[in-house]
Amino acid sequence: MYKFNPQRIQIGISACLLGEKVRFDGGHKNSSYCNQEIASFFDYVPICPEMAIGLGAPRKSIRLVRDGEQIRVQSGDGSLDVTEKLNDFSERKVEELDFLGGYLLCAKSPTCGMERVTEYKIGTNNGSKSGIGVFARKLMERYPHLPVEEEGRLHDMVLRENFFTRVYAYHDWHKMRHEGLTKHKLVKFHSRYKYLLMAHSPKWYRELGPIVANIEDIEATADCYFTGFMAALKINATRKNHTSTLQHIQGYFKKHLTKEQKLELSEMIMKYRQGLLPLLVPITLINHYLRQFPTPYIEDQVYLNPHPEELKLRYAY
Ligand code: SF4
Repeated sequence: MYKFNPQRIQIGISACLLGEKVRFDGGHKNSSYCNQEIASFFDYVPICPEMAIGLGAPRKSIRLVRDGEQIRVQSGDGSLDVTEKLNDFSERKVEELDFLGGYLLCAKSPTCGMERVTEYKIGTNNGSKSGIGVFARKLMERYPHLPVEEEGRLHDMVLRENFFTRVYAYHDWHKMRHEGLTKHKLVKFHSRYKYLLMAHSPKWYRELGPIVANIEDIEATADCYFTGFMAALKINATRKNHTSTLQHIQGYFKKHLTKEQKLELSEMIMKYRQGLLPLLVPITLINHYLRQFPTPYIEDQVYLNPHPEELKLRYAY
């Protein structure tokens, strides 16, 4: 039985992405990015719902079929219908997954697809890309804040960075909750995430501050805060917002840096703004100045190190 592990992030994953031969055609969808590049950072929890309901591999392929208000899961000729089995399994399985820190799904699948899954009109071969896989839907409904992404979308560096930023923040939050929530911890948590929030959404940054400034009912406040917090991080950070965040941080070094150093940092930030340098460059310089001129409030900012640098998420950004 799995449970939350504060030391290691556990990621649910469609089993076929790890090279398991569980697809309808007896093959797999091995993702070398998941299986090799990032595997050492996480503990994977592979799940194949179709195998779990006893379909076996190879098997008849199934698809989403719209019948009025109802979505059924059937083979193309309609001779196999696994709607109830798949729904029951998914409902039960997601209840066991509250320890996860994220989920990577296989695209297009009527079971695991997160979006744009082909949905057929009953009795026809007319499909529209408007469906969501049965298991994926139950998962996202049960854990609306859980970072969930399709493996294929991780090729987009902005989406990749966003997903892993959310994974680490989500885990950080649950670690705090695991240790026991207090008003002080909640205020501290917000304080550490201020600049990350600013980079993702200045609007949420402004709205979340007052929520933690007036805590009466800690549980209600935490729920409300976390909903806004994860909504904010889901918004992709932009160059414009990163630039203004970097400029805010730059302000903390005003008294310490020489004229030349200030100029150099400003130039790095502007070159980043113009797309001439990756985000990593001004961040590295800021981290360098932080070692020279320790500033605890800035050192604590998750923004400067939201995920391990070995994941190489800030190079192409
Ligand atoms: S997409 Fe999901 S159901 Fe299909 S083979 Fe992969 S893990 Fe199994």
